[in-house]
Amino acid sequence: MSIPKNQMEFERMFSTEEQCLAYLKELRFPNGYFCRKCQHKEYWQNNRGIMICKNCKDELSITAGTIFHRSKLPLVTIFRALWWMIAQKNGVSAVGLQRVLGLGSYRTAWTWLHKFRRLMIFPGRDKLTGRVEVDETLVGGKRAGKRGRGAEGKSLVVIAVEILEKGTGRARIALIPDASKKSLVKFINDNIEVGSSLITDGWKGYNGISKKGYLHLIDDKTKIADGEEILPNVHRIASLLKRWLLGTHQNYIGEQYLSYYLDEYTFRHNRRKSKSRGLLFQRLVEQGVIHKPVEYKLIKSM
Ligand SMILES: [Zn+2]
Repeated sequence: MSIPKNQMEFERMFSTEEQCLAYLKELRFPNGYFCRKCQHKEYWQNNRGIMICKNCKDELSITAGTIFHRSKLPLVTIFRALWWMIAQKNGVSAVGLQRVLGLGSYRTAWTWLHKFRRLMIFPGRDKLTGRVEVDETLVGGKRAGKRGRGAEGKSLVVIAVEILEKGTGRARIALIPDASKKSLVKFINDNIEVGSSLITDGWKGYNGISKKGYLHLIDDKTKIADGEEILPNVHRIASLLKRWLLGTHQNYIGEQYLSYYLDEYTFRHNRRKSKSRGLLFQRLVEQGVIHKPVEYKLIKSM
């Protein structure tokens, strides 16, 4: 299966609905079509992307049961939107997407960006390992504050990042209800391999983490040289994340949607060194093929 290497190739590969459908079909049936009712391998296909089993006449739409199903937008436009979203280093707002693709409706652009965000967490991904910094921070809202104490309108987010010999590796970012031991331990268990070294500040919510199989190192002011910052790597991600929420999205994000934006940010962070836009595109379309449909109503009613 070929992967678009640049804009020209992308446009050549996905200039018609038929080409887009063929691409989805290939991702959906990597070992070739077989009928879900009778396992027969031969089929007819009509021009609306319906596959009809030659034996039992069962009909299956290529997009049925995927995130691409029953969209008002042509696949050509959806593919362009996704391709464009991946290419923008700092992401894209619904207004920006609407303008670039000349979409008639803001709602359509907004809905598709939300759908794309839901494809950005790959199931079965590996947990972080090695030396990992962990800290919480508040995002959104207007007032400054620490750990949810007197910080109205803000949401508490926990960040973990791998420390490499040079620079940082992968990150995980999640919304948490509070900075309690229960919430922090759950995040750590879900996202970091047992046996890793965890570097945190002296917050009591991290007490006892060594009993869960982690090597716990506490970074605090008394242990580092004057002028050095504690947990510098995780704090750098926190400030970039806040700038991103403020810049690309002007902080206009309801808390009900925040975790999806965090997924997008994590996706961008973890693939910041990736050279292949085409491969990212393919991975996301692949995710879309196995992701159940998401209706506008569901997103809006969150
Ligand atoms: Zn059949």
